[in-house]
Amino acid sequence: MMCEPTTSHNKPKLLLHVCCAPCSPHVVDLLQKEYCVKAYFYDPNIHPEEEYYFRLEEMKRFCREIQLDIIAANYDPDRWFEIMAGHESDPEKGERCGLCFRMRLEKAAQFAEDNGFSSFATVLSVSPHKDAGVINEIGKELGEKYHVDFHEADFKKKNGFKISVEKSKEFGLKRQDYCGCVYSRR
Ligand code: SF4
Repeated sequence: MMCEPTTSHNKPKLLLHVCCAPCSPHVVDLLQKEYCVKAYFYDPNIHPEEEYYFRLEEMKRFCREIQLDIIAANYDPDRWFEIMAGHESDPEKGERCGLCFRMRLEKAAQFAEDNGFSSFATVLSVSPHKDAGVINEIGKELGEKYHVDFHEADFKKKNGFKISVEKSKEFGLKRQDYCGCVYSRR
């Protein structure tokens, strides 16, 4: 649901970092009960470039279907590779993933502060491969730094991942078989 103009409703504005369309429908449904949600796509981890644009276009298609506003940030994979240097061989859920979460969430937190959002969140914890404890710690720290509340959650809980898979099928959203970066693809 679109939330503009903000004067027409009383819900607080939340910026939702999204990584891909199939991870989003369930989280959006949950958050829209409490917030006026806008999606924010910042995912320079995605490799290769064609895959990045595929995921972005799928996300935009989903947003059009449910009339959700989306902001796409720049694609800066060079910066992502710089930050991940030395962590190429880390396993999934290791230190590299923490750096990757931080990079994406920091950009979202900055954007939220600069554009009058009171809160921000991410869909990332809906994945069974992602540690909600790590995501929430990073989110809280960045929320304090940028003066926006981080909505802590573990969206995979209460059957969240299963519901997310069912909902993404309803929308015909293709779920990829790797997280996003070149190392997870290997
Ligand atoms: S596996 Fe996923 S979360 Fe971890 S570094 Fe790669 S893209 Fe980022």
